[in-house]
Amino acid sequence: MRIKSVSTLSLAPVEGMRVVVCRIDTSTGLYGLGEIGVAIGLGAYAAREMIEEFGRLILGKDPLETDVLWDLIYRSSFWGVGNGAIIMSAISAIDTALWDLKGKFFGVPVYVLLGGKQQPRLRAYASQLQMGWDVEHFTANETPEALALAARKAADQGYTAVKANFIGLNREGKRRHHRETLGYLDRDDMSRAEERLAAVRDAVGKDVDIICENHCITDVNTAIQYAKVYERYGVLFLEEPAVPLTAANYRKISDNTSIPLATGERTYQCQGFLPLITEGRLSVAQPDIGSCGGPTEFKRIADLCRLYDVSLQAHTCSGPLSVAAALQCECAISNFAIHEHHVMNTLPGNYLMGQYCLQPKDGFFEIPDRPGLGQDLSDLAMKDAAVHTIQ
Ligand code: MG
Repeated sequence: MRIKSVSTLSLAPVEGMRVVVCRIDTSTGLYGLGEIGVAIGLGAYAAREMIEEFGRLILGKDPLETDVLWDLIYRSSFWGVGNGAIIMSAISAIDTALWDLKGKFFGVPVYVLLGGKQQPRLRAYASQLQMGWDVEHFTANETPEALALAARKAADQGYTAVKANFIGLNREGKRRHHRETLGYLDRDDMSRAEERLAAVRDAVGKDVDIICENHCITDVNTAIQYAKVYERYGVLFLEEPAVPLTAANYRKISDNTSIPLATGERTYQCQGFLPLITEGRLSVAQPDIGSCGGPTEFKRIADLCRLYDVSLQAHTCSGPLSVAAALQCECAISNFAIHEHHVMNTLPGNYLMGQYCLQPKDGFFEIPDRPGLGQDLSDLAMKDAAVHTIQ
């Protein structure tokens, strides 16, 4: 079996998210699919260009040699050894497609190839409630009432954990400029965060975990200020309290709060996580399979975390193939924390891009047993996809 062509498929944007899929076709007719992780924010189409450049390197190669091809692309790129979101997303999409192919070739789900199912099913949390929950479209609303309603909806559906950003909008309900969350906060600012978090705690009661998401809009000082507020409400972990590139900052935050710290969606490869774990006292690593280096590197990161008793969840905020990849990889690790079910992946406009609708039941995901990732693109996704093939 040889790689015959590498294609990029740019799906129709959903709520501003630009999903780009790498498709690898082989001489046998088997194909594999994988997604980039940088579908949100900026850079999706830059990653698409990178996939096409890297695709030329692997034409004619054996797709089963995932480690060999990973190193070939990584080393050939020159710049990849310093990693970065665009290069690593392209490598990740290709690597994910190769694992999907490998599973199909052997007729087994990816988790079998990764060593087997360590988790029979995956506990999930309802993620990013500030955008609403169980909605057709995003409705950015961070009033205490809106957050409480979204949290209650999720709890009623069986979720035992929820996540929200309690600090994203200012007093006028507008998206905050970063100047407003760096330096030091005034007491009014902290009170508004507390009102929102208290409303969610009231809505879900004491038996549902709450995760606080800071999205790196805080720095060490303001993260500590907010953490002092969060501590009163039994928070499971605090996500992205500061830019993850300076691990010492995570240590400083950790020194000043009892809440475990999480980060990883903007961190790449084992080398990115190592200082956060050893120096930054990270408790929960959150690599995105679409940008950390694919299933190959995700498994390496999980093994690294295991040495330090750090738990893991995949960051997921992209299309239906990213959810499938997360389920396959997360169930194959012993230090799995909890699965992120992003509100984006509950929107029909997004999940209908997948042939299979991957949603949890009563707050838990079952793992698909179909070969490979156990997911494919639907006719709807293909109808408006822009396809470019290298062969
Ligand atoms: Mg996040």
